Amino acid sequence: MKFAILSKGDDKSNNLCAKIKSYLTEFELEYNEEVPDLVISVGGDGTLLEAFHQYVHRLDQTAFIGIHTGHLGFYADWMPSELEKLIIEIAKTPFQVVEYPLLEVIIRPKNGGEESRYLALNECTIKTSEGSVVFDVEIKGDHFETFRGDGLCISTPSGSTAYNKALGGAILHPSLEAIQIAEMASINNRVFRTIGSPLILPGHHTCLLKPLHDKSFMITVDHITHTYKDVKSIQFRVGKEKVRFARFRPFPFWKRVRDSFVADDRE
Ligand code: NAD
Repeated sequence: MKFAILSKGDDKSNNLCAKIKSYLTEFELEYNEEVPDLVISVGGDGTLLEAFHQYVHRLDQTAFIGIHTGHLGFYADWMPSELEKLIIEIAKTPFQVVEYPLLEVIIRPKNGGEESRYLALNECTIKTSEGSVVFDVEIKGDHFETFRGDGLCISTPSGSTAYNKALGGAILHPSLEAIQIAEMASINNRVFRTIGSPLILPGHHTCLLKPLHDKSFMITVDHITHTYKDVKSIQFRVGKEKVRFARFRPFPFWKRVRDSFVADDRE
């Protein structure tokens, strides 16, 4: 089995990475950054998001696992004190995986230029630094509303506990093949009207945003921000691809939600 490690870059994470590399190579696992079967992220959720985007081109062949060197993460859910247990589990390969749905984002430019396609593990947000965004929102091919406001956040089930949660979105179990649309400060008055509630779309529904003004958009895909001008439409749906997490012990989603947001009973 081939493994790669990605560090947050601070001393604590770097030291842990060095230990993991030396232990796993002693167990005769091969360190390989090009074609790893397992990517170990050491740092926080941000480090795991980076790892995901670094290996997004080989999701069907790579599984991820996250160790946190700061506070408990959502994806980075192993503690440094569990390292020896984890190393032994990894060395006993093959390992089990759980698969979570992803968000597919397709940005189409005006004038028939080439479209851009991204996969998000958490979410995509669309904002502008030039006042409000104004979009026609289509769901499954039909006009749904004209949105005017700060922006929209379209998230995956596992990303529903991140930015989406701060916007009042629901938390979705990652076994649901769905995406969620949450508003950011929509303008609602006699002229403009939006639904106001987060919407959850099933796997076979597509959401399309069509900008009504020629603005420059800041489009985030997880921690990465892209700037696009002359956007014709932005399309969202559940991706065909899935992210795979290596599972070496049960840590149910709702327990993770409770430990992260309600109470942490762990050491
Ligand atoms: P960051 O350093 O600002 O950290 C964001 C926080 O979000 C961290 O505490 C991280 O642990 C947490 N987080 C990330 N994914 C999560 C998930 N799926 N469930 C629960 N918590 C999660 O930024 P970063 O580390 O580069 O992460 C980028 C993420 O930050 C984005 O994908 C977005 O979800 C989140 N974010 C949140 C807000 C907000 O809550 N208001 C605003 C901007 C970005």
